[in-house]
Amino acid sequence: MVIITRLETFVIGDGPGIDPDKGGVEPIACVRVHTDEGIVGLSEVFRVPPGVVQSTVGDGNTHFGHLLIGQKLTHPERVWQHVWDSLIHTNRRGWEIIILGALDVAIWDIYGQMLNQPVWQLLGGVQRGPFQTHRESRTYSVVPYCTIVSDTWGGDAMFSQQISRVEQLLERGYRAFKVEPMMSTPGDVVELARRTRQLLGPVPTLMVDVGYLFNDLPTVARICRELEELDIFFFETPFPVDTPGPYARLSELTSIPLAMGEHGVTRWEFLEMMDQGRVSVMQPYMTTCGGLTEAKRIVDLAVPRGALVCPGNWSTQILGAASVHLAAYSPITPYIEFAAAEVFDSPLRRELQELGFPAMNGEIAFPEAAGIGYHLPDDVINKYRLD
Ligand SMILES: [Mg+2]
Repeated sequence: MVIITRLETFVIGDGPGIDPDKGGVEPIACVRVHTDEGIVGLSEVFRVPPGVVQSTVGDGNTHFGHLLIGQKLTHPERVWQHVWDSLIHTNRRGWEIIILGALDVAIWDIYGQMLNQPVWQLLGGVQRGPFQTHRESRTYSVVPYCTIVSDTWGGDAMFSQQISRVEQLLERGYRAFKVEPMMSTPGDVVELARRTRQLLGPVPTLMVDVGYLFNDLPTVARICRELEELDIFFFETPFPVDTPGPYARLSELTSIPLAMGEHGVTRWEFLEMMDQGRVSVMQPYMTTCGGLTEAKRIVDLAVPRGALVCPGNWSTQILGAASVHLAAYSPITPYIEFAAAEVFDSPLRRELQELGFPAMNGEIAFPEAAGIGYHLPDDVINKYRLD
């Protein structure tokens, strides 16, 4: 039986003073879980200040080191439950769960290597068929959608920058895109979507994310009415982050599926989004939500509720690799989010994408290597290491 012997953290990034709107990778902690048999699991920890990870993931005197070192790896779910039960009187949300989620991804990575299987097979194997994907060729592949941002928000500068990025990625074979008219007027939201649809034509998939921009239902309902003509796959987070209530009311006023969940932790928050918010596209990050263990539960809860799970990932392809495994398992995941390095000014993002699973003609093949199958060489770590 494999036993966890050591937890390791390191911090990588494009450097200090990064503007994430330009696509640079801000300092990000990564964790490695070591075992007595020499098998090592890897994950990144998005959206947690690196210092928090460094001070809680380490030797037996640290918060997570105390809980994990010495644990036998019978099944990742048992280890997850052991940690969760130990957190009953701590905060059980926020950074604590995100770090648990990252450690869980690393533990699944180890578990797959132990059993010499790709993680998606151990999550449950291929459940999807052509009836979910509409095309035979997609049965054994995952389709990324490219999230498009700009350096400036609103008006012509935003339109031209985002549309030119869509154009470049369309030429490279990507077939699904999410534009982000943040900090914009209602008119600009609709106009960016309209111009993007005009460029794409009828076939490629288009999503719109307004990043919690509005707080009044009539305005958002009016925007949705105008977007309905543009065949929008989902409309993401029009209302403030913690309020599923208005989503439920909006869902009765529009035929566009509503999406939320990028900051959601634990299946309990996703249940609230689906049951109280009537949100029909769940966007868990594979680490933020509580790990692959929790993401699988979110998929299994979404199936009987008629919702989709489209994993979020505005981070690197270290996290993206975990999303691919969840999508390969999930019967209700037509797309995963993808921050395509081709259109962003970030050497680290580019290198991490090149080390990840390749997107060929807009599709990522189901991984065949054991574990998560993402290998981060020491020379890349050392080149971008910030701690
Ligand atoms: Mg978003």
